[in-house]
Amino acid sequence: MTHPFTVFGIDGLIEDDERDMQRSVRAVLDEAVRPHLADWFEAGSVPVRELAPRFGELGLLGMHLEGYGCAGTSATAYGLACLELEAADSGIRSLVSVQGSLAMFAIHRWGSEEQKEQWLPSMAAGEVIGCFGLTEQDFGSNPAGMRTHARRDGGDWVLNGSKMWITNAPVADVAVVWAQTERDAGPKGIRGFVVPTDTPGFSAPEITKKLSLRASVTGEIVLEDVRLPESALLPQAAGLSGPLSCLNEARFGIIFGAVGAARDCLETTLSYVRDREIFDKPLAAYQLTQAKLADMSLELGKAMLLALHLGRLKDAGTLRPEQVSLGKLNSCRESIAIARECRTLLGANGITLEYPVLRHANNLESVRTYEGTDEIHQLTIGRALTGEQAFR
Ligand SMILES: Cc1cc2nc3c(=O)[nH]c(=O)nc-3n(C[C@H](O)[C@H](O)[C@H](O)COP(=O)(O)OP(=O)(O)OC[C@H]3O[C@@H](n4cnc5c(N)ncnc54)[C@H](O)[C@@H]3O)c2cc1C
Repeated sequence: MTHPFTVFGIDGLIEDDERDMQRSVRAVLDEAVRPHLADWFEAGSVPVRELAPRFGELGLLGMHLEGYGCAGTSATAYGLACLELEAADSGIRSLVSVQGSLAMFAIHRWGSEEQKEQWLPSMAAGEVIGCFGLTEQDFGSNPAGMRTHARRDGGDWVLNGSKMWITNAPVADVAVVWAQTERDAGPKGIRGFVVPTDTPGFSAPEITKKLSLRASVTGEIVLEDVRLPESALLPQAAGLSGPLSCLNEARFGIIFGAVGAARDCLETTLSYVRDREIFDKPLAAYQLTQAKLADMSLELGKAMLLALHLGRLKDAGTLRPEQVSLGKLNSCRESIAIARECRTLLGANGITLEYPVLRHANNLESVRTYEGTDEIHQLTIGRALTGEQAFR
C-alpha cells in the first residue's frame, strides 16, 4: 500500500527539519489528544488550559512570529503544524490558530511595544489564553457593519456591544475586540482593543448545542460599559485592514489544516477497506472502491501541492489575499467532499465516533464558514479576475 502523498511525490517537497517538526507535533497529539477526542467531541468540551501549555512548549503558539518568546519559524512550517493539528481535530487546530494567528498576530502586528511585552510571551507559553472578537450576530461576512462601539470618556474608552461565535471567549484571559469608534465613519472608524476579560462589564457566555467543532469552546462576548485606558487601543490599526490582516493569517493556516483533516479521513479509509470483507473479498478489491480512492487521492494531493506552493509564496513575501482565498476555498471544499466520501466507504461504522471521518466532516462545516465562507472567497477571487467587486 502506498500513501497518497507518496504517489504524488510530495515527500520530496518538504524539508527535513519541517518533517521532523511534523513528527514531534504528531507524537504529542498521539499521546495527549487523539485518545480523548471522541470523548471531548461527545461531551462538547476540551481542556484548553491543559492543552495550551503543551502546545506552548512545542512552540506552536504564535509559531511564525518573531521575538517575544515566539518560535519564529517559516510560514510553511507553521502550515505543516496546522496540518498535523487538524488531522487530529479542527477544534484543536482552531485553538492554536485563534491564539497565534488571530489574537497574538493582532498584538504583534498592530500593538504597542508595551502591549507586546505584556501579552505575547505568556500567550506564546500557553499560560494566557486569547480570543478574537470580530463577528457579530448580524455582521459575519460583512464585519464593516459592526454595531459594537467605543466612545471616548476623558482619557478612557468605553465599549458597548456584543460579539458572536468567538472561539475560546469563555476561557480567555484576554480578548482582541474590534469596535466602531466614530459615528458615520464606516469601516475607517474601526479600531482594535486589547481587553483583559476580568474588566468589569465583560462577559462571555458559552454557545452550546453545536453539531460541529464540538472539541472547541465557542462563546459570545458581551460588553456593557467596559472601561479601558487609552493604552488598551491597538495604536497601529485603523480601519478594516487591521482585522482583515489577522484573518488572512488564520486563513493561511486553514489551507494546510483542512488538508490534514482530509488526510486523516483517507488514511483511516484506506486501512478500513483493506480489512473489511464484503461478498467474500476485501472492500479495497472492488473497482468502485478504487475509483473513489483514486479520485479522493487526486484531490488530496492537489490540495497539498497548492498549500505548499502558497506556503513557499508566503515565505518569499509575495502571497496575495486572492491567493489565500484560492487555497482556503479549495482546501475546505475538497476536504469536506473527501470526508463525506470516506464516510460512504465506512458504511454504518462511519457514522460513529469510533472512526474520525464524520467528526471531521462535521467540523469542516465550521471551517468552511469561518475565516470567510466559500462565497466570500469566490467573490475575492472574482474581484481579482475581473476588477469588479461583487460583494454588494
Ligand atoms: C465554530 C465557529 C467559530 C468561530 N470563531 C470565530 C472567532 O473566533 N472570531 C470571530 O470573529 N468570528 C468567529 N466565527 C464567525 C465566522 O467568522 C462567521 O460565522 C462567518 O464570517 C460567516 O458569518 P455568518 O455566520 O454571519 O454568515 P452570513 O454572513 O450570514 O452568511 C450566510 C450566507 O450568505 C453568504 N453570503 C454572504 N455575503 C454574500 C454575498 N455578498 N454574496 C453572496 N452570498 C453571500 C455566505 O457565504 C453564507 O453562505 C466563528 C464561527 C464558527 C461557526
